[in-house]
Amino acid sequence: MINEYKIYALKYAGPFTRSGAQIMWNKDWEKVVSSNYYIWCIKGCGETIILDTGIVPSLAKKLELPGYVSPVEILFRINVKADEVRRVIISHLHFDHANGVSLFPNATFYIQEKEYRFWIKDRIASRPPFKMSGDETSSAYLKSLEGTDRLSLLKGDQKILPGIECLLAAGHSIANQAVAVNTNKGTAILGSDCGHLFRNYQDDWPSMYITNMVEWMKTYDKLRARVSSMDLLFPGHDPIMSEDYPKIAEGVTQLV
Ligand SMILES: [Zn+2]
Repeated sequence: MINEYKIYALKYAGPFTRSGAQIMWNKDWEKVVSSNYYIWCIKGCGETIILDTGIVPSLAKKLELPGYVSPVEILFRINVKADEVRRVIISHLHFDHANGVSLFPNATFYIQEKEYRFWIKDRIASRPPFKMSGDETSSAYLKSLEGTDRLSLLKGDQKILPGIECLLAAGHSIANQAVAVNTNKGTAILGSDCGHLFRNYQDDWPSMYITNMVEWMKTYDKLRARVSSMDLLFPGHDPIMSEDYPKIAEGVTQLV
């Protein structure tokens, strides 16, 4: 029997408006587009796996994030207690995805080793264009876990449970990762910021937050080849995820 999971999108902040060119690299300058901040919950086979951690309340306050709800509170709406979560996958170490690591005090964090090494050890990461997206608080927290069983550094594609595989999917960051999940509709992929919106995948177009465009294009090929159908390839910030899917609780929708 194949293990099958359900996938939930939890909107923890938004909507934000941005220039279209931020989302669609070097075009749509005249457009304004909307986006949200999310974490995701994968449930099934007695397991609860969280993808990305969101932002802690103190930083959300400092950034004056519209529509902010603590990830702890929004998880509780689907009966998940953050301090009981055992597995958290981090797609990449940008602040909107990793700042909230301390909200999961009993979790093991799964991160690509190359992504971790860059943000924690490489001095380039502290240069202004990288520093803008990075997050010193979560980097320090993760560094304190090095050598313990709470930090699992992955070398490329790796199954972490039957039916759940982390996929190296670089381009947006040095070594961001997507997650392939067995569902009752086939293989779904949570791509996080491999595409900010569904439209990035549809148009074969990156956002403006590019570390390596060639790698990004290869990532598109890899994810398309792996996902069972394109409607099961989910982006990182698209408001459609909280609008066009069954609502399970306030701010929470079921994607698959
Ligand atoms: Zn993001």
